[in-house]
Amino acid sequence: MIIKCPKLPGTPPFKIGKIYIEIGQHINENEAILNIEMKKGAKELKSSFNGIIKNIFITSGDEVSPDDSLIELEESTMENISTISNSKNSVEISDICIIGGGPGGYVAAIYAAQNGKKVTLIEKDKLGGTCLNKGCIPTKSFVQSAEIFSQCKHADIFGSKITNVEFNMKKIVEQKNNIVSTLIQGIEYLIKKNNIKLITGNATFIDKNRLFIENFGEVFSENIIIATGAFSDYPPIQGIELPVVLNSTKALNLEKLPSSITIIGGGVIGMEFAFFYNNLGVKVHVIEFLDQILNMLDKDVSLEIFRIANDKGIKISLSSKVTKIQKSDSDTAVITYEKNGETFVTVSDIVLSAIGRIPNISNLNLEKIGLNLNKNSKGIAVNDFMETNIENIYAIGDVTNKLQLAHVASRQGLIAVDRILGKNNKIDYLKVPNVIFTEPEIASVGYTENLCKNLNLDYDVSKFYFSGNGKALVMNNTSGFVKLIINKNNKKLIGGTIIGPDASSLISTLTLGITNGLTIDQYTKTIFPHPTTSEAIYEAFLAFESGCIHL
Ligand code: FAD
Repeated sequence: MIIKCPKLPGTPPFKIGKIYIEIGQHINENEAILNIEMKKGAKELKSSFNGIIKNIFITSGDEVSPDDSLIELEESTMENISTISNSKNSVEISDICIIGGGPGGYVAAIYAAQNGKKVTLIEKDKLGGTCLNKGCIPTKSFVQSAEIFSQCKHADIFGSKITNVEFNMKKIVEQKNNIVSTLIQGIEYLIKKNNIKLITGNATFIDKNRLFIENFGEVFSENIIIATGAFSDYPPIQGIELPVVLNSTKALNLEKLPSSITIIGGGVIGMEFAFFYNNLGVKVHVIEFLDQILNMLDKDVSLEIFRIANDKGIKISLSSKVTKIQKSDSDTAVITYEKNGETFVTVSDIVLSAIGRIPNISNLNLEKIGLNLNKNSKGIAVNDFMETNIENIYAIGDVTNKLQLAHVASRQGLIAVDRILGKNNKIDYLKVPNVIFTEPEIASVGYTENLCKNLNLDYDVSKFYFSGNGKALVMNNTSGFVKLIINKNNKKLIGGTIIGPDASSLISTLTLGITNGLTIDQYTKTIFPHPTTSEAIYEAFLAFESGCIHL
């Protein structure tokens, strides 16, 4: 079938803009073929059929008029689609094929394409992965909505009396969905702009170079990057399958706010939800197995957020194990937990299970190609360059189970592509910043004091409290502190935690220092603007030598 130039508004000839397809490529119905530029803008020509491009009669910049032949397409009938699906011959050929369009996969795809590689990206669900659709972005949209509600309620401190402050959970979910779809559209645009072939479907390995995608066919690729992420784990608790028990994904789509919630797990996801619900007036009870919440933090930081949470009315049971969940006659959840040998029962409208995420390695047929997993079989084993035990196969992001953070997934993607390009870069996981969007925020990077002790390092610690910071007082947000750790021998910054206002942004100042080996002296010679929360960092550095000024 010949695809011809359509009738367009304005006077011909029109100019051919970007051509998205290549000879031999399989395209789907509604997939963009090329752009035709007119005086009043550009029109994207889309395919009306599934098929394979047989011929391209034009090149970018050519002038065309209506009815001119542009492309020859061999339409895929049901018969030849199934031939493609079962075919041993590849349909799509690429230099790099990436499985999974999350922040690991899509960033790697764009970077590889920018570096001249022919890239295929396979995504079975929505571009953006967990981060965009059910993780980082949706939760932060929720946090923002709840913070605005809380600020309006307490606006009288700042001289504004706002009466009848109400929230609308449906609108909060809607706002989150709008943000997510705007961001997905942005990624779709970038994928197209970089000429990346996007295939929608579930990818399975046929062999070390070939993937099968249902309803599409095969991809043959010189290199393959696995970026399939992770999924919510459910603890083996009796009653965990009841409808009153949600995971974070389900909680993000609840349009009716519960009046009470029990959260299993006081980790990052659990605590972010705890503050969100508390801000909206929900009765929150967090049950944590360990003896501190946010176990990756130093005890003093964990205690500070524990104290703040308590002050806000969030109940936290530490060293406690949930053993059973039941549904009462009134459809509420009855949660049984044990603490120090004693049994307790708590009741709430719903339960949120937030106990961790498991690398997504099922359905990939990894056994067939002999890919090695990590020792505990959780995640794909990789070296510093994100290489697996199979020469041309790489793994990045949550599926490697190194550090389940979006910015880690993205950086690992760049490292894998760099390795393919012949450049050797590595990631130092100790220099990765980590932010927790509680209220106040917590951000940390580098060594914790705990780790310094375990490694027997010669270190020194300083702290500056936000109660001594003018901007924090202006913001009516003076809880928390900046905690710094330096190497005593060379005075270089090796670790830092900020719990307090703006922590998520301030942490970059410390990350830059740790990544580049900056010393106390270099920090104290730097001028920090007034009045800002960043002055708390300056003061914490002063504390190591001449002493804080505002303390
Ligand atoms: P994912 O984002 O999970 O993407 C993997 C993609 O692969 C998915 O789209 C999936 O559909 C696709 N896929 C899987 N198998 C196949 C297959 N066989 N074929 C085709 N496609 C496949 N991180 C932060 O840094 N900051 C935060 O604030 C933050 N908040 C979070 C809040 C929540 C509630 C959750 C759950 C996570 C949060 N994270 C946060 C973690 C972050 O979302 C992940 O670390 C990040 O998304 C990992 O990226 P990834 O590319 O490895 O995997």
